[in-house]
Amino acid sequence: MTPEETLLAYIDASPTPYHAVAEARFRLVAEGFNELRLDEPWSLGPGDKRFVSFDHGSFVAFVVGTDPVAAGFRVVGAHTDSPNLRVKPQPDLDGHGFRRLGLSPYGGLQVATWVDRDLGIAGQASFYGDSGVEHGLFKIDRPVCRIATLAIHLNREVNDKGLLLNKQKELPALFGLETKDDGSFRRFLAAQLGIDKAALISWDASLFDLCPSRLGGEDGEFIFAPRLDNLASCHAGLLALIAAQQTASSAVLVCFDNEEVGSQSARGADSPLLSSTLRRILDGCGHSAPQDFPVSLANSLLVSADMAHAGHPNFADKHDPNHMPQLNKGPVIKSNVNQRYATTSRTLAYFARLCEKLEVPVQQFVNRSDLRCGSTIGPISAGNVGIDTVDVGNPMLSMHSVREMAGSQDHQAMARVLRAHFEGSP
Ligand code: ZN
Repeated sequence: MTPEETLLAYIDASPTPYHAVAEARFRLVAEGFNELRLDEPWSLGPGDKRFVSFDHGSFVAFVVGTDPVAAGFRVVGAHTDSPNLRVKPQPDLDGHGFRRLGLSPYGGLQVATWVDRDLGIAGQASFYGDSGVEHGLFKIDRPVCRIATLAIHLNREVNDKGLLLNKQKELPALFGLETKDDGSFRRFLAAQLGIDKAALISWDASLFDLCPSRLGGEDGEFIFAPRLDNLASCHAGLLALIAAQQTASSAVLVCFDNEEVGSQSARGADSPLLSSTLRRILDGCGHSAPQDFPVSLANSLLVSADMAHAGHPNFADKHDPNHMPQLNKGPVIKSNVNQRYATTSRTLAYFARLCEKLEVPVQQFVNRSDLRCGSTIGPISAGNVGIDTVDVGNPMLSMHSVREMAGSQDHQAMARVLRAHFEGSP
């Protein structure tokens, strides 16, 4: 399979951050990475390949270098979460003959793109099992929900004013019809999990679009898929880490949950997760002198990979005309003088040179000066760890839609550049 075909499979297997971590674990273990536990000391040496997950929504995978202090860490950061709709803890709503599910929007989703889709449900559930409280992933691959639009005859202005949905009143998903028996979501999910309804304690359940990811366009030049932001970067990081040859630097891939809601959580980028993991890698190798960690950090670099805004031909004036990335023209370096992106002129030069050496074209993005700029894990990780960082990402359209699009050739290009970064290219 080509890199972009394996990306499509990764996305379709990963409707939630929990699945994105489980799929990454599966692929890494097949490539010789062993799983570490957070609650046990680590003993490490050069060449060791390891994987560790944080509450099953974030993970770090790494290969220990031959000289981890003097050569530092080559880190790639990305995020596992995407905006979506999550089932409330007590979601059941009845009335007018229907059963509906109350939903909470997660992150900055484009609400109107979720209507009239065939929606499955996936996530993590906690329940009483033989060994006490147990946790499990579930993925219900059939269209159990729909957020139905109102007919145009009852909403005559929809094409002029846009589809506006009140998130409390007009978002609940149609889930079934009222009958006499217990039609609760709890009963439904327990049956899916094969457990008794009373044993089910809690869930983090997300709706997802069942339409499979595809290559599209005249010659397969596009990728049409959900969650490209930012599973495409997680996957490029995985391809790069698996392919990378061992060098003096330690190669570290960190994929955080909760970027779309500001990164402030125990497993988000605004936590000690990365900093404490890097320190544990050094300690595990026996480099625990007080100077080892700061010296290693000073020799380290973080490439924060998160998808970038391509110029949209129908809305070209939304971009700065000199910084309008195009699909399949290579990775994008993102800069913002107000530090919404962590790129500096030095780290920009580093990434541009990596691309140049591989003859991969590279593009640049800055926001229009009169529009508010988005942000990503780059500045947050840089601020927490104190490590030089460049913010990059492949160009895409329809960001935060239920179905996004990107260029199919950019994916392999990004994976090659991230691999060169892991391999410690100067
Ligand atoms: Zn993102």
